Amino acid sequence: MIIGVPKEVKPDEYRIAMLPVGAQLLVQDGHTVIIEKNAGLGSGFSNDDYADAGAEIIESAEDLFRRAQMIVKVKEPQPDEIGRLRANQVLFCYFHFASSHKLTLQCMKKNISAVAYETLTDEHGRLPLLTPMSEVAGKLSIQEGAKCLEKPMMGRGILLGGVPGVPPANVLVLGGGVVGINAARVAAGLGANVTIMDINLDRLRQLDEMMPPNVTTVFCEPHAIERYAVQADLVVGSVLIPGARAPKLISRELVSNMKKGSVIVDVCIDQGGCSETSRPTTHGDPVYVVDEVVHYCVTNMPGAVGRTSSSALCNATLAYCRELASLGLQGFLDKSPGRAAALNMQNGRIICTAVAEAFPDLE
Ligand code: NAD
Repeated sequence: MIIGVPKEVKPDEYRIAMLPVGAQLLVQDGHTVIIEKNAGLGSGFSNDDYADAGAEIIESAEDLFRRAQMIVKVKEPQPDEIGRLRANQVLFCYFHFASSHKLTLQCMKKNISAVAYETLTDEHGRLPLLTPMSEVAGKLSIQEGAKCLEKPMMGRGILLGGVPGVPPANVLVLGGGVVGINAARVAAGLGANVTIMDINLDRLRQLDEMMPPNVTTVFCEPHAIERYAVQADLVVGSVLIPGARAPKLISRELVSNMKKGSVIVDVCIDQGGCSETSRPTTHGDPVYVVDEVVHYCVTNMPGAVGRTSSSALCNATLAYCRELASLGLQGFLDKSPGRAAALNMQNGRIICTAVAEAFPDLE
């Protein structure tokens, strides 16, 4: 099979979907790997690193998309890339279809098959291709949120951990999954007063056992969200219903009742965001203010730390990529229900139920 890895074109996206070692293993498996020139530079890998691994370096994205039978990339196809997609081409990347009617329709019209990182599950029902990026985004959410709380960034002028004699900030984490755990750990490590909410009681029990004493677990329901959000200095949105749009847990009215200069880092913005006031932003222009509450809603947070993120992502995706290349799409899907769950679209037809439910008009 001819496997193409383009340079990511989303603004400020420095990741690449394949490390040189991945290219080498795929070539050893008997495949042809074509990599767009300079695709690895943002993550610290040169064209020579890929050429030495046996990959072919391609000058233009057009040629790469024209030749490849399977495209492996990080982010969902961008406007420039949509035009290059070919019927029956297999794309293996993040899509987050439920957050974008436009992207879903465009991919349908191109008759592609979309194998989505974010809905592939393992034998325990976990999301192994979302997890590494959620670990990165969870840790980054506190780093970015702490920065936004600084006065020059329009924040309240508060240090997350406080200092002796001055109390720490209140951090509310909505959703105690992978992003939430990592966010809570980092915030707690900095000394903040952390509350983490989830609707899954077993998850809350686990969190209660594993978290340090400055983390409190609370069952997530509208009254609790309201009570804690108005006291929070920093809110992290990290809920997920796999494949579906994120539930809107924070209403516009609640935002208007939050402290002036408080911060919402809506990590689940890639699935539409959990605040009614959230809209996607970029690393180049990451924040905006609604009712004096600072919003950070970057859809590709891990892209900022490309070296860490590319390695973490490829460590998880490579085995599945090799299977897809060797078994073909149908053989891959037949191997397990979890692999079949990754198929969001087949030759332009929506397969993922959550995506179909998000856009009934596209059925
Ligand atoms: P996860 O499945 O590990 O955790 C989600 C948690 O949300 C679960 O524990 C679930 O019980 C909880 N939940 C679901 N509905 C809820 C509700 N109504 N109230 C409270 N809790 C609820 O998911 P994750 O890996 O932590 O990912 C979280 C989100 O972050 C996803 O949308 C993911 O796509 C996104 N993400 C964004 C970026 C970015 O760059 N912006 C990067 C990585 C992940």
